[in-house]
Amino acid sequence: MNITVYRRITQIAFILLIFLMPVLDILRYDTATKELIVFGNVWSLGLKHGFYADQSVTGSLHIAVQFFLKAILPWIFILSIFPILGFLTGRFFCGWLCPEGTLFELADYLTLKLTGRRNFYSKKPNDPDINGGNKAVYAVIAVLSAVVIPLVGGVALTGYFVAPKTIWAQIVNWNFTFGVKAGIIGVAIYMLTTSIFVRHVLCRFVCAAGLMQMLFGWVSPVSLRLKMDTARITECTDCRGCEKACFMNVMPRKNKRDISCVNCGACIVACNKELGYGRGLFHYSFGEKCASPSENCKNLTKIPPYPALSLTERP
Ligand code: SF4
Ligand code: SF4
Repeated sequence: MNITVYRRITQIAFILLIFLMPVLDILRYDTATKELIVFGNVWSLGLKHGFYADQSVTGSLHIAVQFFLKAILPWIFILSIFPILGFLTGRFFCGWLCPEGTLFELADYLTLKLTGRRNFYSKKPNDPDINGGNKAVYAVIAVLSAVVIPLVGGVALTGYFVAPKTIWAQIVNWNFTFGVKAGIIGVAIYMLTTSIFVRHVLCRFVCAAGLMQMLFGWVSPVSLRLKMDTARITECTDCRGCEKACFMNVMPRKNKRDISCVNCGACIVACNKELGYGRGLFHYSFGEKCASPSENCKNLTKIPPYPALSLTERP
């Protein structure tokens, strides 16, 4: 299996997790009962009954400790997830897990099949070539995707605030409360407009999770990143497969740390396809250490340091 297959598996698995979390009561906030449900239990501060009447030092300490453990600590944990992920794995989450990134990749793919370019605005030098296919079939898939995916996404995300059973009952009876209707339609419109008009621009400049990973990955000396075996640059056939594979518009052969790179590995796959498995010029590294695929790193241990590449941009 190549990196792309693994990546599709992690992307689909994460989407399923996002959809199932409220259904299985793993995490959701019930706006009707005003309760936060975490792993099937109502999340509370755990204060003793009648705590407000206890004005002793022990009573005050109990409130302070419970507040720290049940309110402040969870927030610190939640807010530190993306900085830690960024520090260790760069923008790996964006490329391998993020449901929105997955949706944008699907939109890229269908746009490419229908128009010959990745986005509706202009053809970019690194847009891949289209390899056949029946446009009518892709048009039907695109229309179905534009209707079904945002609505299903709307139902799933609304489940984080309204009990999924309640939403399901309303769908079956086709009788919606204002909150459920607003939730589903609001999320659906957001998903539809971003996947048609904005896509990876949102990942690059707007998404807070992406920006945090970008920042911490950039400064981290150990984070996962893409590297090129520049010692073997003469083996490059200039097929430009690596550039065409990159939906984030990175020029991988420049071998520079690029804040837009989401560590998707599409360029690794493309180069292995061109030069033969294990002979590709790209690999993952943690800091200076080769991470994967190790076959691509063989020469790296022999001829460091590498000269900087200066590849000219193509029109
Ligand atoms: S440079 Fe390679 S790993 Fe980075 S986003 Fe582009 S294709 Fe993915
Ligand atoms: S995919 Fe590999 S061989 Fe082709 S242009 Fe990129 S680095 Fe060169």
